[in-house]
Amino acid sequence: MFTNTELTLDPENSVSLRRLAHQMVDDMFDYLSNLHQRPVWQAVPETTKKLAKESLPLKGQPADSVYESFKQHILPYAMGTVHPRFWAYAGGTGSHLAMMADMLAAGMNSNVTNGDHAAMYIDQQVIEWSKEMLGFPQTGGGMLVSGCSMANITAIVVARNAFNKNIRAQGIEQKLVVYASVETHCSVQKAVEIAGIGAKGLRKIPVDKDFRMDINALQLQIAIDKKEGNLPFCIVANVGTVSTGAMDPLDELAAICKKEKFWLHIDGAFGALAKLAPAYKTQLKAIEIADSVAFDFHKWMYIPYEVGCILFKNKELQRNSFAITPPYLLRHERGLAAGPEGLNNYGIELSRGFKALKIWMSLKEHGIEKFSQLIQQNINQVLYLQTLIQKQPQLEMLTPVTLNIACFRYKPLKFNASVGELNRLNKEIVMQLHEKGLAAPSYTILDGNYVIRVANLNHRSTQSDFEVFVKEVIRLGDTIAESFKQKQVAIAV
Ligand SMILES: *Cc1c(COP(=O)(O)O)cnc(C)c1O
Repeated sequence: MFTNTELTLDPENSVSLRRLAHQMVDDMFDYLSNLHQRPVWQAVPETTKKLAKESLPLKGQPADSVYESFKQHILPYAMGTVHPRFWAYAGGTGSHLAMMADMLAAGMNSNVTNGDHAAMYIDQQVIEWSKEMLGFPQTGGGMLVSGCSMANITAIVVARNAFNKNIRAQGIEQKLVVYASVETHCSVQKAVEIAGIGAKGLRKIPVDKDFRMDINALQLQIAIDKKEGNLPFCIVANVGTVSTGAMDPLDELAAICKKEKFWLHIDGAFGALAKLAPAYKTQLKAIEIADSVAFDFHKWMYIPYEVGCILFKNKELQRNSFAITPPYLLRHERGLAAGPEGLNNYGIELSRGFKALKIWMSLKEHGIEKFSQLIQQNINQVLYLQTLIQKQPQLEMLTPVTLNIACFRYKPLKFNASVGELNRLNKEIVMQLHEKGLAAPSYTILDGNYVIRVANLNHRSTQSDFEVFVKEVIRLGDTIAESFKQKQVAIAV
């Protein structure tokens, strides 16, 4: 039937939607207040998987019932990053006001790429603050991006174009080379591939026993590359490798970069922010030498996903890689089309959300000093965990704690387990810790050994959470080891 009523997505009944919105806030606050009573993780049930297979809705349903679906089928099966015993991967914890800021930003729905509007200024203020936090000069540049993967790609592209400014127009005709240690995050390899250098152009340099880049091996490789006529232009240094938190020797790498005229990029996804912690302030002053540094706000600044950051020493070089102004983006003298230069001239993306608001509000609410204390607290807690582990004869540290990561494993006392058995046993412990909702560590493999890995970027963890964790690892380990032993006996018979 023809109707001349025009459609809108705005609520027909704003009173009831408003009531629902208040309910959502209350529910999320309750959820975040009762985390200790909840499992860290629970398996996604069939009902949720079925919901996720429902076909495209043709007709709408009341907002209340959509929300009810979320509450019943989605919320309880979250990843668990908000929980006090979540220490997997490099997961950040999120925080209350930043959660609300995301709602406000979505409500404003500003596109933070060009034009004269408040979000443009706040976004840039957060970049100014980021430079100050990491000791980068005011003249430097930067960009908020989705995460450290995007930050690494942005950096590699700028480093590449700074090396040869014809590449933007001509593409790559040379055998370019980037150096990074074998412990470097896979996003750096992706960045090198996407930048057209190719995975083979990324030389993965061996590490020493502490998982830091081996400088001699690096120098050897540089000599080989130069002899072969390849063109090295960049070293990627780790400040906090994802597996163990190792930090490459920054001063030595900086000296090599200076001598060879290479770009020094730091992947400091979580580790760079340790510069704020009293214990690392001096050691990590070296970050200031870098040409670019990538880090995540959604890791060690506890900002909800997703937001990362790339900083550049030289803003002009950043601009040279991306600036392009089509007629439909020309700036005007006045009106909405005036204001700061378009941010699309400084990065890959055009449309960008107001990610800056959650950082801006968090920093205003807590102040940078509180973040310094929290980062230090996380480091201290992992050192405490190390002492707990060292007190237990069934547990062994596989590498000393650097930064905020502990890698350890359970080893049965009652029988000699092979490496294969130890690997299976520890993997089983991790899976059961998750399944029983007790704790969410992750894992990695160090020199062929499967290890239980705790990466602490959690502002909700307390010492007692680590005590519970160690107790549960031993309890599960003893039970699983017993069943392994019986199997061994059975095989021997
Ligand atoms: C997490 C991480 C990345 C990737 O960052 P995303 O925000 O997940 O894209 C890169 N490097 C290191 C060392 C990381 O820990």
